[in-house]
Parts: sequence; C-alpha cells; structure tokens
Amino acid sequence: MKFGTFTLEPKKAEGFNFHLLRVKTELGTRIPPQPDMYSNVAVFGDNVAIRNHPDWLSQSPLGPAKMGNTNYNIYWNIVCATQPEHRAEQLDYMEDVDRQSMGVWPNSQYFAEHGHCTCPRCTERWQKSGLGWLEWRRKEVTDYIAQIRERTKKELVMCIQPDPVTSLERYGVDFDDLAKHCDLFNVVMFSKSYATPWYFEMLTRAFKKLLKKPFYVSLYVYGPGDTPTDVPPPAELLTVSTRIARAGADGFLYLTEKASQIADFQKALVNNVELRNRLQSYGGKPVQELLDRVASWENIVD
Ligand SMILES: [Zn+2]
Repeated sequence: MKFGTFTLEPKKAEGFNFHLLRVKTELGTRIPPQPDMYSNVAVFGDNVAIRNHPDWLSQSPLGPAKMGNTNYNIYWNIVCATQPEHRAEQLDYMEDVDRQSMGVWPNSQYFAEHGHCTCPRCTERWQKSGLGWLEWRRKEVTDYIAQIRERTKKELVMCIQPDPVTSLERYGVDFDDLAKHCDLFNVVMFSKSYATPWYFEMLTRAFKKLLKKPFYVSLYVYGPGDTPTDVPPPAELLTVSTRIARAGADGFLYLTEKASQIADFQKALVNNVELRNRLQSYGGKPVQELLDRVASWENIVD
C-alpha cells in the first residue's frame, strides 16, 4: 500500500512514498514541475484558456460548461474536449511536464458533463463519425488519452471522478479503454466531510470490481482558503481511510494546499491513540498497513 501527498506547493512532507504536485489547476495557473515529484495537470478545465478564447467553452442543451451554470456542478470553465488548438498545446505541455518531473497525472481529460459538447465542431465530428452519441464521445476521449500516452514516457496515472456507474454517459470515460493506456488510476474522492464512511467504502468496492489497473484514492484534508471548521476532522479521515483500505484500494493521497498542513494532519492522527487502537480490528492486513504507516509517523512529528 502506497501513501502520497497531493499539494499545491512544491514541498515534500516526510513519511510518504511519493508526492504529487498540482502543476496546472482548473484555474489555468501553472507552476514549474519538480524532478522529484509527480505532476497533476487539469487538461480541459482551464479558466485562463477560456478567458483568452471564450468561444472554446464546451456547450450543451443545458448551457455552457461555465462557472455559475447550476445545471451542472461546475466550479470553473471547461474547454470543449475536441478543441484542436487546446488539445495540441496541452499535449506539448504534458510532454514537457513529463520530461521535467516523475510523470503526469491528468485530470479533467474528458468531456465536461452529460450533454457536452454540442458546439458546431463537435456536432459535425459526431455526424461524420457515423457512431452513436455516447460511442462518439468515448472514442474522442480514448483517442486523446492514447495521444497523451504516446507523448509521455514515464508513469501515467489517470485521475477519474468518483462515479463508478455513469462516467461513460457523463464524461465519455470508459475505464477499460483508459486502463489500456495508463499505469494506474487515481479515484478522486474529495469531500469536506467523511462523516458517513459507508459511502466511500462502497465506492471503493465498486472501483475494485471495475478497474483493470491498480488504483489510489485521493482524500481531501485542507484546501486553499479553508478554515479549520471547513475541513474534515482528522479522526474522520483516519476512519474513512481504514474503510477504504479494507475495500481494496492500493494506496492513498492526501490533499492539502501546503506541506505543513500534511504535517499537522500526521500529528493529529499520531496523537489519536484511542482511535488508532479501536481501528485495529477493522479488517486484516490492509488496515494494519495503514495503521503501521500512521505509527511510523510517531518518529517524524514534533
Ligand atoms: Zn465541442
């Protein structure tokens, strides 16, 4: 079982197997990749690209993939997934990021949501393809992922939405297609509360059944602009990690803005001896591996 940090700053907390840096976020901002960290790249979610090219916005019968369109839960602006100049620029960018870091973990590398995209180019491409709507979208996504694989030489990890059942209908994502091109999956289960761990365990069991490559689960610890009352309590995070571990995840990533917030999180888990003892009985070897990892942090926290 592997443990990773997932941060917005290029600093590494101690006590983890690897470190993932958000080098390009959905805001469209970019920071330099690091040679000893993996690189997370938001591909089509890109506010800067839309600011520069408003006509690249993904379209649908329920409106565009724009912040504020409450038909969808969209928190940034999303480029049409067939936009040729954006596709080409992102491939060049990912090739460069791959060369300068330990490898690329793309997210937002698919259509914005169900019903997308109905811009004139997509409508024409779909009609010319002779395929059904869902099959055409799947092919567009899979073909682009194959191009990402060709352009990157190191480990390639596909970040996916935590929807095991309707990712094809919503995003054009077929897990078996992606598994042919990637080394691993990262199922992003960000939430500001893990108060009911049952749901996250259930999602993990579903992905364990479906995915044909190993997968990590990313959990939300402390994001930009959060206050302590906004974020999941460390005890919830340890409990949900236990439940996800016993359901078969191959590893965890913990998201914070800063590396120091990872250290705070480690300290809070180490100090909760009562919970660590209680969770010992929660599920055999994988749970023991997780709890052993927490125990190993005793040596690095103050
Ligand atoms: Zn389009």
